[in-house]
Amino acid sequence: MTNTIGVIGLGNMGRNMAATLVKKSFTVIGFDLSETACKQAAEQGVIAATHLSTLTEQCNIIILSLPKAEHVEAVCLGDNGLIHVVSPRTTIIDTTTSVPETSRMVAAEFSKQNIAFLDAPVSGGPAGAATGTMSMVIGGEMEAYKQVLPVLEAMSSVRVHVGDVGAGNIAKIANNMLAAAHLITTAEALTLAEKAGVDPEKVLEAINAGSGRSGASQAMFPTWVMTKAYDSGFTMGLMRKDVGLAKTLAQSLNLTLPMAMQTAALWEDSAQKLADSDDFCCIAQCTNPLLFG
Ligand code: NAD
Repeated sequence: MTNTIGVIGLGNMGRNMAATLVKKSFTVIGFDLSETACKQAAEQGVIAATHLSTLTEQCNIIILSLPKAEHVEAVCLGDNGLIHVVSPRTTIIDTTTSVPETSRMVAAEFSKQNIAFLDAPVSGGPAGAATGTMSMVIGGEMEAYKQVLPVLEAMSSVRVHVGDVGAGNIAKIANNMLAAAHLITTAEALTLAEKAGVDPEKVLEAINAGSGRSGASQAMFPTWVMTKAYDSGFTMGLMRKDVGLAKTLAQSLNLTLPMAMQTAALWEDSAQKLADSDDFCCIAQCTNPLLFG
């Protein structure tokens, strides 16, 4: 393993992961289509490349942090994609929340060239990426996982290897299905209490000391909803994507998951009121615009 790491996608997550690796003495070469993203990353010590080949020539570990599966497929297998320029014995760590089938298909193409591909989606938001305290769920060959462990350890405080390639995204989709539901159910619980005449701030405190607590009640509501800051760094568009991934996965398995389907319907309906660029915590406003708006 060399000390030079490539990062493709320097947005809210990728830029902060790259900056963390720089702080931990890795040399990081970054690539993004957006000039602003490259400039912001360069300010944090990342060497911004203008071509993918600059990065592939110098790195045998490449991290992807892209919006969606279609971007992963384009960056990996497209006409100007990694597959054409990547050096043998490279390991690609895809931290995008993506489609399991895409991970498997891309990994199969890379394995023909002796290149390992791990799907390793993350939790913890830009703050977790900036402090190296993300949680990661990893799918892929154990040998490749162990080889890149020092890099994963530099970026995260918890790592769970969940199975073969694609398993990381399945675990992440299951997690985000819950987070998406908890945001709405917490908004509903606080609305119920408020309408019945009890201070929602106090009720949130009680929930967080009780069995109804969740990541939404413990982190999202206190930090971004009750404060009305709505600046988590995770967009409505990306969460809608994740909820859609859960719905598609359930349907592909012929599963009847009524709560998940209701959650998906509510996130889909939110498009009438909230833009893709809005903060994902704004979903609470669809339940109670007066309390959370
Ligand atoms: P983002 O939109 O802020 O960043 C994505 C970056 O990818 C952008 O800078 C964009 O220019 C770049 N990009 C797109 N296509 C590209 C290409 N072909 N080549 C190079 N760069 C390209 O998104 P984000 O919030 O950083 O999220 C990245 C991934 O992490 C998503 O899959 C998201 O679901 C997941 N995620 C995000 C958070 C969060 O809190 N933001 C938390 C956990 C997981």
